Amino acid sequence: MFTHLTKDKENPTVIILLKFIPPIMELTPCLAVLKLFSENSDIFALPVVNSDNIPLGIVDRKAFIETFIKPFSKELHGNKKISDFMNQSSIIVDKETTIDDIATIIVNAGIQHMMSGFIATDNGQYIGVANVLDLLNEITQRKQATLFHLAHFDQLTKLPNRLLFLDRLDMEIIKSHREKTQLGLLFIDLDNFKHFNDSMGHGFGDKLLVEVAARLSSCARKSDTVARLSGDEFTILQGQTNCQDDLNILCGRIMETMKEPLQIMGREVFITASIGTAMCPCDDVESTGLLAKADAAMYEAKRSGRNTYRHYVSSMNLYSFNHMTLETDLRMALVRNEFELFYQPQVDLSTGKIIGNEALIRWRHPERGLLSPIDFIKITEETGLIVPIGKWVLQEACRQHMIWVENGMEPMPISVNISAMQFYQTEFCKMVRSIITDSGMQPIYLELELTEGLFMHDVDIVLNTLNELHELGVKLAIDDFGTGYSNLSYLKMFPIDRLKIDQSFIRHLECEPINVDIVRAIAALGKSLSLDLVAEGVETDSELALVKSSGCKFVQGYRYSKPLPADQLELWMKERSRNDSVSMPLAEFHDKTLP
Ligand code: C2E
Ligand code: MG
Ligand code: MG
Repeated sequence: MFTHLTKDKENPTVIILLKFIPPIMELTPCLAVLKLFSENSDIFALPVVNSDNIPLGIVDRKAFIETFIKPFSKELHGNKKISDFMNQSSIIVDKETTIDDIATIIVNAGIQHMMSGFIATDNGQYIGVANVLDLLNEITQRKQATLFHLAHFDQLTKLPNRLLFLDRLDMEIIKSHREKTQLGLLFIDLDNFKHFNDSMGHGFGDKLLVEVAARLSSCARKSDTVARLSGDEFTILQGQTNCQDDLNILCGRIMETMKEPLQIMGREVFITASIGTAMCPCDDVESTGLLAKADAAMYEAKRSGRNTYRHYVSSMNLYSFNHMTLETDLRMALVRNEFELFYQPQVDLSTGKIIGNEALIRWRHPERGLLSPIDFIKITEETGLIVPIGKWVLQEACRQHMIWVENGMEPMPISVNISAMQFYQTEFCKMVRSIITDSGMQPIYLELELTEGLFMHDVDIVLNTLNELHELGVKLAIDDFGTGYSNLSYLKMFPIDRLKIDQSFIRHLECEPINVDIVRAIAALGKSLSLDLVAEGVETDSELALVKSSGCKFVQGYRYSKPLPADQLELWMKERSRNDSVSMPLAEFHDKTLP
């Protein structure tokens, strides 16, 4: 039986099992072979070759000795040639045969081969024999390794998964305690990853995650553990951390590499990350606590406008690890009336006048206090709760608009954020129309903020919905503009009124010249398409000046006001119009009004 099977890189060949046992020649007398077996108790089988070193068969130790312990067998057969006593149909395989293939061959060939093993050849020449026990050993070890890998590594990115990560974290904590050293933990969450997944498909999202995993690994030291916890959440465990600065350096390196575009399926995309850090033993000495703290710091980074990092401080809330309870609570929040809308004004740079307000949801949680949308919008989108909650936001924003009008304020547009899932509801336009009608407001005062990702879906459906909304008189804006995709053709096709430049381009505008260029390019694009531009997240005077000189007409940001509850915003607006102040910053207002 001679078998030559193809090579498989994943699956080693029989070579790793081979032992070279000097073969016996076909004419060797049986007594000499008996002597060999009795002198070498570890030889389980002896290969027999001809004068050209071509294997002819195997002599199985057990079967051979059983024959020769019978009375008179030595006298009868001792001088016969060994080729009469060998197993003629032994298994002979080429050295390239894989372990899995040889296992199949042996199972199919029958039990006797389990005892005697098999012979391997190179170009037909004998090179060694292998034991089936070793073969089984090798197979089970490899199966165990595969099972271990499946249980401990993320199959997509090949990084350690949550299970292995927590195990390493526990080990590292014990080690740092013993050696009196510190360790650092980074909790990394990609910004707006959902937009990519929703608009470009999961295949694209998967490839993006693989690329990000490679980048994160390239930033870490060999001794660090980079892991993927779930979805777009990654962690890095750094042992022997001397101080917070070590972690800052690592965070800085990650932010820096993420600035380079990623090539995914022939497209160039940019993605940023928000990072939270925590250290052992100063922040926590247990793995779950440390992880929760790094996670809380990551949320703080998100809250600070994303694409940045924060270190854990004890005032941060530790709620995110309690995802399940948060979800249960969210289901009750609408009925319990726990949502509120805050409003953030938008200012016309040329006149200093407020030209509209964006409605931003807040959740007054009975135990956890006031929660920002960063803490719960993702869950509402994952669970579909965004549909009823988003409807409530629209109703409430329209209601508030009418209250302000009734209080004698000049009617002013109100912007409402719309999630992709809401937008794709078949009755979406009908719902918007009926909310507007019921509230009694004029449709031109309602602006819907949509994200870029949404436009990448089925163009006809999107276009129909947008046209229907536009015909209603509602204004349409693209939120977080610039964070998504290079294909801008949709801007010409769709009835869009305004672009809101994402705050990641505005922040630190003065230290990132590239951002100034991007803002200028977006401004030029907006101008050529007759779209209004709003710069989001303007915090400082220098950002304001740069935004102005880049050609933006409107701004929104802490420089003027943080999002405020309706009654406080009303006060603020009245105060502003009394002072006729072009740029009274928030701080001055807060000094006067807030406790
Ligand atoms: P967005 O629509 O881009 O809203 C702007 C966010 O930037 C707000 O965060 C606002 O507080 C923050 N911001 C404004 N100016 C500044 C600034 O100068 N500096 C910094 N660091 N941040 C500034 P917020 O209220 O936490 O909302 C976060 C996001 O949650 C929103 O981003 C929006 O995408 C989403 N969101 C808020 N309300 C709703 C809602 O009712 N429905 C849906 N679907 N999403 C919502
Ligand atoms: Mg918005
Ligand atoms: Mg935005």
